[in-house]
Amino acid sequence: MPYPADVVERYRAAGHWERRPLADYLLDVADRTPDALALVDGDVRLTHRDLMVRADGAAMRLRELGLRPDDRILVQLPNGWELIVLIVACLRLGAIPVLALTAHRQHELDHLVERAEARAIAVPDTLAGFDHQGMARVIASRAPTVEQVLVSGEEVRTGSVDLRALLRPADDPAGARAALDAITPDPLSAALMLLSGGTTGQPKLIARTHEDYGCYVRSIVDVCLLTSDSVYLTLLPLGHSLPLGTALAALVAGGRVVLEATPAPERAFATIERERVTATALVPAVAQRWLEHRLVDTDSDLSSVELMLVGGARLPDSLAERIAPALTRNLQQGYGMGEGGACLTRVGDPSDIIWHTQGRPMCAGDELLLVGEDGEPVPDGEPGELLTRGPCTIRGYYRAPEHNAGAFTADGWLRTGDVVRIRPDGYLVVEGREKDLINRGGEKISAEEVENFAYQVDGVSQAALVAMPDPVLGERACLYVVPRPGALVRLEDVEEVITRAGAARYKVPERLVVVDELPSTNIGKIDKKALRADIAQRLDAERLTAPAAS
Ligand code: AMP
Repeated sequence: MPYPADVVERYRAAGHWERRPLADYLLDVADRTPDALALVDGDVRLTHRDLMVRADGAAMRLRELGLRPDDRILVQLPNGWELIVLIVACLRLGAIPVLALTAHRQHELDHLVERAEARAIAVPDTLAGFDHQGMARVIASRAPTVEQVLVSGEEVRTGSVDLRALLRPADDPAGARAALDAITPDPLSAALMLLSGGTTGQPKLIARTHEDYGCYVRSIVDVCLLTSDSVYLTLLPLGHSLPLGTALAALVAGGRVVLEATPAPERAFATIERERVTATALVPAVAQRWLEHRLVDTDSDLSSVELMLVGGARLPDSLAERIAPALTRNLQQGYGMGEGGACLTRVGDPSDIIWHTQGRPMCAGDELLLVGEDGEPVPDGEPGELLTRGPCTIRGYYRAPEHNAGAFTADGWLRTGDVVRIRPDGYLVVEGREKDLINRGGEKISAEEVENFAYQVDGVSQAALVAMPDPVLGERACLYVVPRPGALVRLEDVEEVITRAGAARYKVPERLVVVDELPSTNIGKIDKKALRADIAQRLDAERLTAPAAS
């Protein structure tokens, strides 16, 4: 969905867009400070020059495998140097990485391959005991478009391509650079695709252009105060926009990215101390785990951490107030989405703002509009659904015209489905959401998708998935079911359907409530607000009646 020509001109004239492909910024850094460290992943340490020479090597080899500019590559890799080098290789070639999460399984990947018409799939051999290579080969054997399975790890089977070998430095760095410079992508073309945390059955593809993602990344550099001295710890999945954006921003600033595949505090604290990490980004559930771990690990030296960005789900005020100075000198709250720009608090803002708001737009070109149920703007200070538009916000999902008709207004505003309030000082406070999803510690679960699974269980007459409050993850999924007369429905039955469909495990509801009927709104829809209140009340009652912990 291209940006209208007049909008392109406006964003360029204002300096939000710079007519440059994304990898140009990384090449600049590699030319300026080739020997500065760019990536640290365990024992692997790559300089900015290494990063670009490997990316160029990989881009040339992808070309030899038949991949061309604009071809889509489905990428399902854990955080690691291989993932970053592959993404940069795609940027250099003009191929488009489609970033899936490692939790996704065949159900999600089949859909993504088909929707993106992917020509290659990149996976680890195995991860946490799961055979990703086997899964990718089954998908590839059935999908007419997929020609290559790229596998990272020790066990690359015959017929798969060894990804680590593909990512070795270019044999002729100057020649590779010249060849790739000659096919440099159009800055208005798609650089990468992210997945929507949306409400529909399967995720929508979010195509971010070189120029819009470049604007996003440069805005992060400014607002997160990243410099060549920054050491950014990336431990949330890079398939999400903010972890990816912050990692690229640290590199564009000339700094270094330290990669961890999980946010476990035991390991993260040791990494922070060893690498003198200056900044990182967490979701609230992880921040809480870190705070708890800090109580038992008071020895690790976290004094290098200047900035901790927390977002992706609502950070409770009480938690916000404890993060600095326990874990960092400065807390930064953030609100954003794969589809667009982000709001962030600023370093130096008063505590009231940092503790109680989710920031203000990080790019001066971002526009916010709050509307009521009638679609009309709400009075100042009142909560409303947030619509956004701007130089980092898409104008439509990839190949989804019907969905786009509802998700965007005619004049290009994205309906976020989030209910927010804007304070007189311009800072935004997330108050709730209208969209039908569960935000499980930052991972989004579409209610519609899980309800569709539930309807496949024998004996289910009606099903509704709602968020239940959770002290650790913020929210978890609770399934309400009305069984057919005489039928018995168990959570295991729902789990079995989801497993049989080959869908990601995090979609399995964590609680089942069987009821005789579901409440409905006055227009006859299932009243999910009432169900959310009902489960919250049940949990409260259980807490009151639970025996006190000894
Ligand atoms: P995703 O595209 O997966 O990052 O999901 C974006 C959605 O996450 C937003 O539309 C919000 O619903 C939610 N979200 C992100 N940041 C926050 C935040 N700070 N507070 C509350 N919800 C948030």
